[in-house]
Amino acid sequence: MAERAATSTRRCTVNPLIGREIEGDEVLPASVKKKVLVAGSGPGGLYAAYTAARRGHQVILCEKESEVGGILKSEQALPFKHEMYELAGTYKLLAEKAGVEIRLNAEVTKEYAEKEHADALIIAVGSMPLVPPIPGLDGENVVIVNNYYLEKDKVGEDVVVFGGGLAGCECAIHLGMEGKNVHLVEMRDVLAPDANVRHRPLLLKEIEKYVTVHTGYKGLEVTKEGILCEDKDGQKVLVPGRSVICALGQRSRTDVTEELLDAAPFVRIIGDAAKVSSITNAVYWGYHAALDI
Ligand SMILES: Cc1cc2nc3c(=O)[nH]c(=O)nc-3n(C[C@H](O)[C@H](O)[C@H](O)COP(=O)(O)OP(=O)(O)OC[C@H]3O[C@@H](n4cnc5c(N)ncnc54)[C@H](O)[C@@H]3O)c2cc1C
Repeated sequence: MAERAATSTRRCTVNPLIGREIEGDEVLPASVKKKVLVAGSGPGGLYAAYTAARRGHQVILCEKESEVGGILKSEQALPFKHEMYELAGTYKLLAEKAGVEIRLNAEVTKEYAEKEHADALIIAVGSMPLVPPIPGLDGENVVIVNNYYLEKDKVGEDVVVFGGGLAGCECAIHLGMEGKNVHLVEMRDVLAPDANVRHRPLLLKEIEKYVTVHTGYKGLEVTKEGILCEDKDGQKVLVPGRSVICALGQRSRTDVTEELLDAAPFVRIIGDAAKVSSITNAVYWGYHAALDI
């Protein structure tokens, strides 16, 4: 189901029924009511829990942190993405209204899951930021893009954004809009190749306005003065900036997933825990996992 959803042509980030209207919009009650445990409250886990509860299942949603939302929480620092942050609150409300029990500061381990004796477990534990072993990337002047909302005070007037995917580009635009002097370093020749086809041209226009871009630059070392890079001709170049935003991508939390794989009779892995992707896919996969229980 997930693969089919992933290839559908017309889709909506927040509503998995768009583009599939022909299948009907009814969430049918389950014939057998089950106990469902959902690990992780990013968009995928929230939507899975909401859908499972709508079907009449008893649903417990566990989040290891003190707030729901997963990566959506990081969107609150970017004014032009605030609605995306608010989406977590909307899904939380829907889930609560549908009867989901939400447990915060509750990390699902194998032991935790087995103690619950759930009939079904949805693993929606998401991903971790990629921080490769580049010298200086663990320095005081570096902020991981996911944590920017918590550490924005650490970011000075001259910034280098390391990584030109969607997250890096959007953060660079935001910093430029705040009047900072922003450089962006990207190893590939293109920026945000995976961005939505309609969104990408607008994104690139804003990049042109606010950011000095260095594509084809490989970051070798983070220093206090910026990122030492190698250009395509093998020349060493320092891209200046006393603060560095690390936006080098995400990797699935496979360690958690592997631990939980046998923790219930029915187990489904969804969202970034299955494959680092997008909000849309996390929501679609969550929705369909809940329909399959
Ligand atoms: C900076 C940034 C910007 C992005 N912008 C966009 C965008 O504009 N559009 C878009 O479509 N996508 C965007 N993405 C990607 C998108 O945010 C993710 O694909 C999406 O959040 C994945 O949702 P998820 O529910 O699978 O996981 P996550 O959002 O990662 O949530 C997983 C949750 O599981 C919790 N958890 C982990 N382990 C456990 C455990 N053992 N027990 C309980 N809880 C646990 C975590 O604390 C977390 O809250 C962005 C990504 C980043 C990093």
